[in-house]
Amino acid sequence: MSKYKTICFANQKGGVGKTTCAVNIAACIARSGKKVLLIDSDPQGNATSGLGINKRNTGATVYDLIIGRSRADEAVIPTEYENLYIVPSSINLVGAELELVDEEKREFRLRDALQVVKDDYDYVIVDCPPSLGLITINALTASDAIIVPVLCEYYSLEGLSQLTMTIKQIKRFYNPSLELLGVLINMFDGRLNLSVQVLEEIKKYFSDKLFKTPIPRNIKISEAPSYGMPITEYDRHSKGSAAYAAVAREVMDRCGY
Ligand code: ADP
Ligand code: MG
Repeated sequence: MSKYKTICFANQKGGVGKTTCAVNIAACIARSGKKVLLIDSDPQGNATSGLGINKRNTGATVYDLIIGRSRADEAVIPTEYENLYIVPSSINLVGAELELVDEEKREFRLRDALQVVKDDYDYVIVDCPPSLGLITINALTASDAIIVPVLCEYYSLEGLSQLTMTIKQIKRFYNPSLELLGVLINMFDGRLNLSVQVLEEIKKYFSDKLFKTPIPRNIKISEAPSYGMPITEYDRHSKGSAAYAAVAREVMDRCGY
């Protein structure tokens, strides 16, 4: 038995690489032979399209799970990649927060929906939207652990303390067993002094929670989704691909595999 199975990628800031990291790490873990279910909980659906799935052409989505209209096993679709499955997103997820305002246990919708599929997968990976709203709260409540992708910028440090507070509150009110699996540096450029300085700050603060391998800024990583491919399929010999493979190993180690 592994320690952690459901892992979400969260950070209230947009553009830090939540989706990129969720998709590529999910793909690397699947490649290693583990069965992985990716949950795209961002209404923008970038993880869905990034794996080559037409957002307008899906059946049930995360919206239907949260609203309670479909079962998770009905919403899962296979991707083109072995061992990698997805519950896609759809734009109507934007309205879910309002629709649930008066509902009971609205923070537990995703957790409860995932119960029926959990045993079928080695890992469930959740890509969160860029906010700390109800959808992200659902993701954090459903997860055993959280990975926080960050950029090496000054403002990242402020964002991290806000997120640390949110994690504390989620633990207190909804999910006492939630753990920080790690902080993942994304788009790292070691030639920039500022990046190196911020990296040192993050190391000081998070010490062993920081993943050893930073993900470099790499053009191939940003090209891959437009071909509907994870980086490991798009360009296996790129620096980005090697970095994601290394981080995926760290993730599996920390999860107890
Ligand atoms: P988020 O999900 O946090 O909003 P994304 O994963 O969508 O962030 O990333 C934001 C943008 O940055 C996307 O265009 C993505 O392709 C690009 N990107 C992410 N990580 C990298 C990287 N390591 N190197 C180059 N571009 C990246
Ligand atoms: Mg995203």
